[in-house]
Amino acid sequence: MSSLYEIVDPGVRLFLGHEAPERIYSQAKWNEGPVYFPASRSLVWSDIPNDRLLRYDELTGAVGILRQPSGHANGNTTDRTGRLITCEHGGRRVIRTEIDGSVTVLADLHDGRRLNSPNDVVVKSDGTVWFSDPTYGIDGDYFGNKAEREQSGSHVYRYDPVSGRLQAVITTMQQPNGLAFSPDESRLYVVDSARTDGPDKPAHIRCFDIGADGGAEDRGVVVEASVGLFDGIRVDDEERIWAGTGEGVHVYSRDGDLLGKIITGGIIINLCFGGPKRNSLYMCSATDVLRVPVRARGINIYRGAETGHE
Ligand code: MG
Repeated sequence: MSSLYEIVDPGVRLFLGHEAPERIYSQAKWNEGPVYFPASRSLVWSDIPNDRLLRYDELTGAVGILRQPSGHANGNTTDRTGRLITCEHGGRRVIRTEIDGSVTVLADLHDGRRLNSPNDVVVKSDGTVWFSDPTYGIDGDYFGNKAEREQSGSHVYRYDPVSGRLQAVITTMQQPNGLAFSPDESRLYVVDSARTDGPDKPAHIRCFDIGADGGAEDRGVVVEASVGLFDGIRVDDEERIWAGTGEGVHVYSRDGDLLGKIITGGIIINLCFGGPKRNSLYMCSATDVLRVPVRARGINIYRGAETGHE
């Protein structure tokens, strides 16, 4: 385990060093979309080919099925009141699970045509829902249902639950995938994972400045993937970018400098911070979910939410 952690910048303390990742689940086909719920000390994530949402109880260690079929769910997140928001490859939509358990469709059509297959999602503190819409869920029958693309491209969308408006805010990427806001929400980091479609295609993270009007201005590539490609990313409360890669997790500064690595020995597809202090890193490999305590903290997306302000 001596090569488990790679410290590139010794001035930045990211890892505890002595802790090896703990396997909390190993029975999946392809894990993605982890989201942590502090109030119930639980992790929810998607096992896409098995068409189910799973839930891990952090106190008992038990894993059970939360929803099956799940519409080949992929990315999950919560809004600031703790409601689960889910991207469905099969349903080709983004849904919200209400407090009473009913499901509300937030987005399924753009310009009257079906979305490709929403992949990953994040909620801004103003309540707007931002999600990526690459074609992975309609390219074949393993991660969804093979179908024709109806949109002109693969975009990042912004859904405003107040007006009901769905807007394509980033239309210049090939296969947008994981996305995460900076702590102050002035920047949005978005993965392009189009390398899946050919060796000359993008495998990088881009940064966009987010305007007060919700517009996104491309600030260019932050970092190119050096091992495999990127899928899911998370930003910690010091704006370091934690990214799944072909060999584990890479941690970058906001300027794209590599700070450190967790070498798990295989791909990490998606990840999220959890635990009562937001300093547990949950990592999804294809079949396993791993967890390790780190010296970073995830962003507290619930800050201010107790006022009821939305
Ligand atoms: Mg993804």
